[in-house]
Amino acid sequence: MAKLKYKRVLLKISGEVFGENGKGISLAAYEQMAKQIVKIKKENKIDLAVVVGGGNIFRGRFAEKSGFDMAVAHQMGMISTVINGLALQQCLEKIGEQTRMMTAIRMDAVAEPYLRRKALDHFEKGKIVIFAGGTGNPFFTTDSAAALRACEVGCDLILKATNVDGVYDKDPNKFSGAKLYKKISYREAIEKDLNVMDATAFALCAENKKPIIVFNVKKLNDISKALKGEPFGTLVN
Ligand code: UDP
Repeated sequence: MAKLKYKRVLLKISGEVFGENGKGISLAAYEQMAKQIVKIKKENKIDLAVVVGGGNIFRGRFAEKSGFDMAVAHQMGMISTVINGLALQQCLEKIGEQTRMMTAIRMDAVAEPYLRRKALDHFEKGKIVIFAGGTGNPFFTTDSAAALRACEVGCDLILKATNVDGVYDKDPNKFSGAKLYKKISYREAIEKDLNVMDATAFALCAENKKPIIVFNVKKLNDISKALKGEPFGTLVN
């Protein structure tokens, strides 16, 4: 068996994955995701962190035209990630996986507050750690939370699950001739203005040399290839 290239991996799942056609909540989607996550962990014997998005429920920018205070709108977005985190945790535990959820916004009755040392301890004990609540700060995204937590807890790879096969030279949903990159450097991605992650998150990954693999969530079952360093989606490093 090919040797694993990565030991501690952070999986970023966009909230859209948990919705029906990207919106709302599909309990079946959490269940399916939980099964796949357990498979990845067992097959590859890696430490696994998960950052959940909330876009299926609420994004701060949904309120842009409503006259809402945007800081509050973003708090609503962050709390929506906690709903996804709780549901995913339930589904993981239902199939016997040990997990801990940590939130960036304190919700002590619901989950542990994020504490780096405690997260490291959970990895030592083989638990999957779900980071919810984004960064805890409005005006950021869960991509930034993924980049931040990956740097903080020493993940050696960020897996960004999307609904396309990787990073393209133009939007593949709009242009049929869009070219998929197999591999690209941080510098090239910036120069070509490719939309790998939001700019803040991407800058953090580039500065700290965190490799990112952008891939299609439908291919999550084959992710072991990526973890062995085989070509998969787009590798940004
Ligand atoms: N959010 C925030 N700060 C963070 C992370 C998220 O304010 O650190 C808010 C923001 O409004 C965002 C929403 O939470 O739109 C949901 O997160 P995101 O859009 O990243 O979810 P995804 O697109 O991954 O489903």
